Amino acid sequence: MIKYYNNHLTVEDITIAEIAKDRPTPFYLYSWQQIVKNIERIKRTFEGLDYHISFAAKANNNLYLLEELKNIGIGIDIVSEGEFESAKRVGYDPANVIVNGNGKTKSFLMDMLYYQPRALNIDSKEELERLEELAIKENKSIVIALRVNPDVDPITHPYISTGLKKNKFGMDLDTASSLINKYYQHPLVQIQGLHIHIGSQILNITPYEDAYGKIYEFIKSLNNHQLTFINIGGGWGIDYLKSGKEFPLEDYRLRVIPIIKQMNLPVILELGRFIIGNAGVLVGRVEYVKKTPYKTFVVTDASMADLIRPSLYDSYHHIYPQHDTGDEGKIDIVGPLCETGDRFAEERVIPLPKNDEYIVIGDTGAYGRVMSSNYNFSLRPAEYLIKDGEIEEVRPREDFKDVTSYYIKSR
Ligand SMILES: *Cc1c(COP(=O)(O)O)cnc(C)c1O
Repeated sequence: MIKYYNNHLTVEDITIAEIAKDRPTPFYLYSWQQIVKNIERIKRTFEGLDYHISFAAKANNNLYLLEELKNIGIGIDIVSEGEFESAKRVGYDPANVIVNGNGKTKSFLMDMLYYQPRALNIDSKEELERLEELAIKENKSIVIALRVNPDVDPITHPYISTGLKKNKFGMDLDTASSLINKYYQHPLVQIQGLHIHIGSQILNITPYEDAYGKIYEFIKSLNNHQLTFINIGGGWGIDYLKSGKEFPLEDYRLRVIPIIKQMNLPVILELGRFIIGNAGVLVGRVEYVKKTPYKTFVVTDASMADLIRPSLYDSYHHIYPQHDTGDEGKIDIVGPLCETGDRFAEERVIPLPKNDEYIVIGDTGAYGRVMSSNYNFSLRPAEYLIKDGEIEEVRPREDFKDVTSYYIKSR
């Protein structure tokens, strides 16, 4: 998606100068073609299985993108009431909606009883009891899956590991087993699935082998069950470092797919980052280059309010200057906010950008715009989608009026 032609940075073969000409920076830019490519790769990996792909809306909640995904048959995985509203707004069929989250409110569970999603993933015994009470009161039946925590180390950043027994998500296998027994043939609450999501940005196959292996053994150990599907979660990593270490799909096909096949159940996948992470970039502009006796700072108009991952997780994002030749420098790329943590890279060696040139932060399609904030009263950036060579604004930049509309001066 990103290439240099004759020393000019391009996205989907359009120069960044052309793209940004009439579009105030910073903004997010997505490539539909890249999203489709990523989905094709998932489909090839699962060829021959009965599977359903859902997109984890928490990775990117742009309604136009969600609608485009819906139109090509991708389901949606929601984790909150807001994402539920988005799914309805875009017109998802409840049969393509998967519901997650570890703190579901009574009113949300009540909504689910009437909405009838494809699967409601229940995080704990306590949540199940809460649901049962409501189901009885309303006399409504519902299909659910139990989120199990297989206690495997996903070998990723601790903030995005979810399948260790010390993490807040899911229930241990013993609890799941006793619930499956207890609710066997329950008239209203039907435990029909198991759900496992062990973490995010995973580049290693072993945690999946371990987790799904445990789940397979678990299913075999059940005396009576009415399981009709298995939700294997998401978490596939992407090559942020541009080191060529991608999610090893071929190994996955050889080592993980056979374990899933043995379960002999239809499969649901929930992928966010893998579908959209490398299909988005954040475009900013260099305000100026500041030199001190110790450092060179490239100060951009993009900030941690637009993209918090480097500040929050210390995550690496590849940074592309507008021109790929020129004097290389060891530079810090920073935003303008009043926070030392407002930096995208430290001592990065890239050709030194000049004032007013554009700069592109790669692999920001997932967990980018969704995590943006109004810190320092920044206005959340616009989003554009490149599709069939056309660039479309799919969300405008916030304006000051929107953000202050709650305030009535004469009060
Ligand atoms: C976040 C999340 C996903 C998607 O994770 P990715 O790493 O973006 O693929 C899938 N399932 C659940 C339950 C999640 O919380």
